[in-house]
Amino acid sequence: MKTQLLPASAPDTAAIAAKLLRDGELVALPTETVYGLGANGLDSDAVARIFKAKGRPQDNPLILHISDPVKMDHCCHHIPDSAWYLARLFWPGPLTMILPARQIVPAATTAGLPTVAIRCPASSITREIIRQAGIPIAAPSANLSGKPSTTTAQHVLHDYGTDGPLAAIVDGGPCQVGLESTIVDLTGPVPCLLRPGG
Ligand code: AMP
Ligand code: MG
Repeated sequence: MKTQLLPASAPDTAAIAAKLLRDGELVALPTETVYGLGANGLDSDAVARIFKAKGRPQDNPLILHISDPVKMDHCCHHIPDSAWYLARLFWPGPLTMILPARQIVPAATTAGLPTVAIRCPASSITREIIRQAGIPIAAPSANLSGKPSTTTAQHVLHDYGTDGPLAAIVDGGPCQVGLESTIVDLTGPVPCLLRPGG
């Protein structure tokens, strides 16, 4: 497939990327942590394309990205007050929370777990794309499995070329944090730090 290169500043980028994602395609997205390889997180076929393109083991669950903290409710249930509190403090930003998953989240996204990882990223273009797509976007780091995380659109191009599995790459410039998100599990009696990150 011919990969479209979409500058974050172009007026039609959000609409084009959102439509591609709704159509089940793969779109590389800038976030403040690293570039993500995005797909419709509620569509098993679209999610399967992420694993295939990256060469990622299917037992490694994905993080769902949402455009607004209130959207947490759509993918998660039994959300404790601590999650809303952390969302107010750290979202949009590099914090991922593990919460009980609703049934609309497919096993392909959670690797069959009853819980799901969720985050509201800081990048305004990526939040706008997710808002226009109207779906949570599953997005692991855009690098091929085993390669360094991608922190520029050029890194993503280097890994996949313009004739590979990506429908588009949104170029938002270099990532500010350059490190994966912090992950906190809120499904137990005590919050548990699973991964220290940005
Ligand atoms: P990344 O590879 O940076 O997209 O982060 C995904 C990581 O989040 C996975 O490798 C897991 O370590 C973690 N993760 C995702 N979903 C869950 C979950 N439901 N429970 C625990 N950890 C999770
Ligand atoms: Mg990664």
